[in-house]
Amino acid sequence: MNRFAKGLLAALLLLLSSSTFAQQGKRLEERLRDHLYLLTSEELRGREAGTEDAAKASDYIAEQFAAMGLEPYIGDSYFQYFTVAGAPNKTFRNVIGIIEGNNPALSNRYIVVGAHYDHLGVQLGQIYPGADDNASGTSALIELARNLLANRDKLGRSVIIVAFDAEEMGLHGSNYLAEVMPADRIDLMISMDMIGWLEEAERLTIEGVGTIDNGAEWIIGLPPSINLKLKQYERSVMTATDTRGFAQAGVPTFAVTTGTVSPYHKPGDTADKIDFDGLKEITLFMTTLVESASANPDFAHSGKLAAIHSALPIAQLGITGSFGRSSVRWPDSALRGKDGQLLGAGLTFQLNLGRWFTLRTGARYEWSSPKWPDDDKPYAAATRLNIEQITTPLTIGARLPLTDSRTYLYLGAGWYYTQRLKASVGKQQVPLGDNGIRTDEGGPIVEWGLNMGKVQFSLVNRYGIEDLFTTPTQGKTRTRNTLCEVTYFF
Ligand SMILES: [Zn+2]
Repeated sequence: MNRFAKGLLAALLLLLSSSTFAQQGKRLEERLRDHLYLLTSEELRGREAGTEDAAKASDYIAEQFAAMGLEPYIGDSYFQYFTVAGAPNKTFRNVIGIIEGNNPALSNRYIVVGAHYDHLGVQLGQIYPGADDNASGTSALIELARNLLANRDKLGRSVIIVAFDAEEMGLHGSNYLAEVMPADRIDLMISMDMIGWLEEAERLTIEGVGTIDNGAEWIIGLPPSINLKLKQYERSVMTATDTRGFAQAGVPTFAVTTGTVSPYHKPGDTADKIDFDGLKEITLFMTTLVESASANPDFAHSGKLAAIHSALPIAQLGITGSFGRSSVRWPDSALRGKDGQLLGAGLTFQLNLGRWFTLRTGARYEWSSPKWPDDDKPYAAATRLNIEQITTPLTIGARLPLTDSRTYLYLGAGWYYTQRLKASVGKQQVPLGDNGIRTDEGGPIVEWGLNMGKVQFSLVNRYGIEDLFTTPTQGKTRTRNTLCEVTYFF
C-alpha cells in the first residue's frame, strides 16, 4: 500500500468514525429510519443473496455492530460464511455478534435474536427494495443490539445477535447457524421478519409462545404496552421464516411479525410506507422481551414445538373427503359412458417408511352414480345408476420432501377393492350379484398429491378390471373413477 492510499484510508476511517459518533446521539426512530433507507436504497438493489449488493448490506450491518462495540461471535469477524448447494461460486454470510451474559450460572446459555437482511434483488429490471421484508427487522435488530449493550448489566444468558443471509433462497443462513450451534444451549430463538407495518396490522404477532412455559402470561406482563396477538405455535408452512432450522433442532422459537399486510414480495414494498413510530415501539418492546428472557433463571422450554417443525410421525390417521367422476366404460366397443359423480368420506391410515416411502390404506363410504349414453339403457328408462359402496385402497408411494418433512409431493400406486352395498335406478332397486350388478370389484389405483402440514390433497385414478354389468346390446362394462381427495391428519 503506498502513502497516498494510506492517507486516503485514514481519511475514510475518520469520516466513518465521525459519522458513527453523530449516529450515537440520534434518537431511536431516526436511526431506524437511517438504517432502513440505506438498506432499501437503489445502490443496494434489493440485497439479493450472493451478490455484491447483499455484501454491501452485510458490510453496513457489520460497521454498525463495530461502531456500537458489539463483540463478534466468531473470532474477530462478524461474518459467518456458508455455502448454498446449486450456487457454488457465490458468497453467502451471516453477520453475528454476541453480548455475554452476567449471570455465571446462565452465561453459557443463549438467546438468539435474528432477522434476515437479504431480499429478492432485481427481477425483470425492477428493484425489489424489501423495506418491510426485511429491512424493517434488520433495522430493529441493529437498534435492539444497541439497547441491549446499553443495559448489558441486566443480562443473564448471553444474547446472540444475527443478521441472516439467504432467507429468501430457502432459509439457508439460519439453517446453517442452527446446524453449527449447540442447540441444547439455546433457550430461545427469535426471528423478526416483516415488522414495519404495525399501524396497518394493528397488532404485533408473536407466534410460538406455546414453546415456552407460561409463555403467553410472561409476554403479556412485559412493558411497554403494545397491541399483541399471541399464537401458541407457528402454523403456516407457506410463510416459513428463520425459526425453522432452530425449531427442527428442538429449540423454542418465536416468529415476530406485523404480518403480510405490506406489498409482500412486490416492488411496491418501499421505505416510504414503513410505520417508523411502530417500528420504534416494536424495538423497545423486543428489548424488554429479550432482557427478560435473558435474565429470568426460571425461563424454560415447554417441551412443545409447532407440528410444522416436528418430524413426520411413522403412523398417521386422518379423515378424508373425496369427490370426483365415476363413469362406465365398454372395453369391447367404442361406446363410452358419460361422467357421473362420486362422493365419499372415510379414514386414511398412512405409514411413513424411512425418508422416502409411504404406505397408505383406509376405507371410504362412497356414493357413486355412473351414467351411460341415452341410446343404450340397460335398466328401465334411466341413464344413471346409484350405488352405495365401501372402497379400500392400498398403495405404496414415494415422498419427495419440498421445504420440510411435512411438505412433500407423493406418487403412489397399488390396488383397490370395492364392496357394493346397494344399487338403484331411479326408485327401482337393482339386484347385486348374478342377475344385476357385480357385488365387488378391484383394480389398479394410481394417485399423486401434495401434503402441507396436516393437510393432504390427492388426485386418484381407479381402473376397474371386473365387469360392473353386462348389457344385451353392448356387452361388458367396467368403471373408471377419477377423484380429488382431501385428508386431514390428526
Ligand atoms: Zn422475510
